[in-house]
Amino acid sequence: MTKLAPLVDQFQRRITYLRMSMTDRCDLRCAYCMPERMTFLPRKDVLSLEELHDLALGFIDRGITKLRLTGGEPLVRRDMMELVHALGRKIGDGLEELTLTTNGTRLSEFADDLFAFGVRRINVSLDTLDRETFTRLARRDSLPQVLEGLAAAKAAGLKVKLNTVALKGVNEDHIADVVAWAHGQGFDATLIEVMPLGEVEEDRFDHYLPLVAVRDSLEKRWSLSPSDHRSGGPARYFDVAETGGRLGLITPLTNNFCDGCNRIRVTATGQLYACLGGNERVDLRAALRSEDPEAALSEALDVAMRIKPARHHFVIEEPGAAPALSRHMSMTGG
Ligand code: SAM
Ligand code: SF4
Repeated sequence: MTKLAPLVDQFQRRITYLRMSMTDRCDLRCAYCMPERMTFLPRKDVLSLEELHDLALGFIDRGITKLRLTGGEPLVRRDMMELVHALGRKIGDGLEELTLTTNGTRLSEFADDLFAFGVRRINVSLDTLDRETFTRLARRDSLPQVLEGLAAAKAAGLKVKLNTVALKGVNEDHIADVVAWAHGQGFDATLIEVMPLGEVEEDRFDHYLPLVAVRDSLEKRWSLSPSDHRSGGPARYFDVAETGGRLGLITPLTNNFCDGCNRIRVTATGQLYACLGGNERVDLRAALRSEDPEAALSEALDVAMRIKPARHHFVIEEPGAAPALSRHMSMTGG
């Protein structure tokens, strides 16, 4: 079989990293991510297990080497582990890494299988270790399950990175505790600035906390030294002398990280978004359901490479402003 052309965009960036959303549904309702009464997509619009599988293989044929399964909450999708099992077989055969981003509520059930099917690293979102704050923020009292899930992941041998969204007046006083705890567990920790994606009840401006401020406050307690470590993503890393751990900072708003972008995202309905911060998209579901799916998919991916923008343009600079984009992060999974 002739080797298919790798994915290279109009700015000569080689695209090797795909984030695929398994579902837009979730068992939590993090206040910065989605409203309590979120309208979810009709199930018929969501790609079937076979379609997700074919899509992933199509991407691997075009040079995607790193695949992250995300959501919504990927582990609430019933046939999720079948897909992990099937895609795990591609590791070492085109795919270098299969990873997952999860809120952790169901990890105690699935951690062993994830490891058995070839997953080695996962990202788990945890914004606070304080049960009351967790319950207020996620609108569900699920911290104990998440902590059980994290213990199961560690016991299964999965390498864990905790992701924490920094929120003014919500968890800003808990961030150091999360980082210290993560490092104590042998987990990496990464902080993220809140992004203006999708309508939620609150004004994100009220809770936007630039990470330069968080870094200043952490430096009063710890010595942070810039690390050479790179994960191929937008995070910049620091070694924390006192905890012996690594801290990543993702600053989409105060810093632009687009020049080295190597990633694209596909929603659970098969919409490829060329940029997290833009509306440029290609309908891969239509390609998959066409008469010649292989050719149509390849053509759609070529179009995606031509429309991927140079950079995102979102800002949170005034109170009451509408979100930069109407779609929620739960569509594209971060
Ligand atoms: N449910 C899974 C989870 O929470 O890890 C996967 C999907 S979730 C959309 C992926 C990541 O996006 C999480 O770390 C979450 O905290 C983050 N996130 C959601 N909405 C965000 C927003 N508006 N700004 C910044 N990060 C956001
Ligand atoms: Fe669900 Fe993740 Fe969004 Fe929280 S951040 S509501 S866990 S999708």
